[in-house]
Amino acid sequence: MNIKGIAVLGSTGSIGTQTLDVVRAFPDRFKVVVLTCGSNAELLVAQALEFSPKAVVITDTAQSDFVKSKLHHTSISVYSGMDALEEVVQFEEIAMVLNAIVGAAGLRPTVKAIASGKDIALANKETLVVAGELVMDLARKYQVKMLPVDSEHSAIFQCLAGEETNPIEKIYITASGGPFRGMNRSLLATVKKEHALKHPNWVMGAKITIDSASLMNKGLEVIEAKWLFDLEVDQVDVIVHPQSIVHSLVQFQDGSMKAQLGLPDMKLPIQYALTYPNRLQNSFERFNFLDYPQLTFEKPDLETFKNLALAYDSLRKKGNCACVLNAANEIVVDSFLKDKISFLGMSDVIEEVLAKVNYLARPSLDDYIETDYMARRIAKEIIN
Ligand code: NDP
Ligand code: MG
Repeated sequence: MNIKGIAVLGSTGSIGTQTLDVVRAFPDRFKVVVLTCGSNAELLVAQALEFSPKAVVITDTAQSDFVKSKLHHTSISVYSGMDALEEVVQFEEIAMVLNAIVGAAGLRPTVKAIASGKDIALANKETLVVAGELVMDLARKYQVKMLPVDSEHSAIFQCLAGEETNPIEKIYITASGGPFRGMNRSLLATVKKEHALKHPNWVMGAKITIDSASLMNKGLEVIEAKWLFDLEVDQVDVIVHPQSIVHSLVQFQDGSMKAQLGLPDMKLPIQYALTYPNRLQNSFERFNFLDYPQLTFEKPDLETFKNLALAYDSLRKKGNCACVLNAANEIVVDSFLKDKISFLGMSDVIEEVLAKVNYLARPSLDDYIETDYMARRIAKEIIN
């Protein structure tokens, strides 16, 4: 059996640590070549000592000496800074890069990995939100696989297995609705980060948990799906499904629908991306129908949760709009977590930033990076 060399970008996060759980369960299948984090030096060192990668990257340069001192007795190379991510993804021992960095910071490493011919397992949805067209064009050019880790996109990808010659009529991305489902705007005006950080069905990093509460996560997922599956905007629909058991659905041209179901556990889509096209035996908890006598579905409320409407608008306008949306969102989420802005204030700022950043119809990678920078700057000016 071939051992697959993998790089895990963002290995200290929610998806990163669950990826290493999967890898740990299949020691004869995978060899970890690279591990990276932002600033969690202690955990990065512990992971490095367990998995003995060729290299680790800590992007926070202030922590680099600490990591070096802890690993100096090993043969593991220690890099630091953002540029190092683009260097290490090119190692020839790597067959697949699993990108679990949070935010637009994941874009450049994904682009470099594709251009080096690596298959991509993508949790970092922001890569496709910011530059979906460019990234998918590159993936086709370099003939690399883009394997979704996001549970909804993994579900659609699984439904499409064996359907290569059958066009999609429509996809339905399911949404739990988050902790504030059913609330009106006057109630939402009073919610605090402690409430927003309690997701009913999933335990995730802070940014995506806030995005889930504000429905921006679903907006980002609509954009991600459009590029990943090469669809028109109107072919991507969202349906609220509070139990998070049906992970998403595809409707074909004969009206037939396929859905993928399972308990909400990210290890399953992570494992499928790592082992695709194979399904390997594991000991994950199995779904029991009797625990879920009712699976329910409802319409999303785009008037109360404006972010989902803003995401659809940005996608329709194309160009650098979704890049602006994403950058502004990263700033407002960070500000909300620091109690500098209210829950509803987040969409207001995003809307204002969208109106202020110059529109570019066909941005290059550098244009996206410039747009990202400008949108962040304007968002910060509005908030401060
Ligand atoms: P976390 O915040 O838990 O982890 C993020 C990881 O990225 C950490 O390793 C972190 O390092 C690192 N990191 C953070 N900022 C930077 C940066 N600027 N440059 C380089 N590395 C950085 O996030 P999640 O694991 O929850 O999410 C990761 C991605 O996966 C996101 O795009 C999210 O939308 C997506 N996703 C997550 C799901 C989930 O269940 N968590 C589900 C579906 C998609 P450090 O620990 O040092 O801060
Ligand atoms: Mg998702």
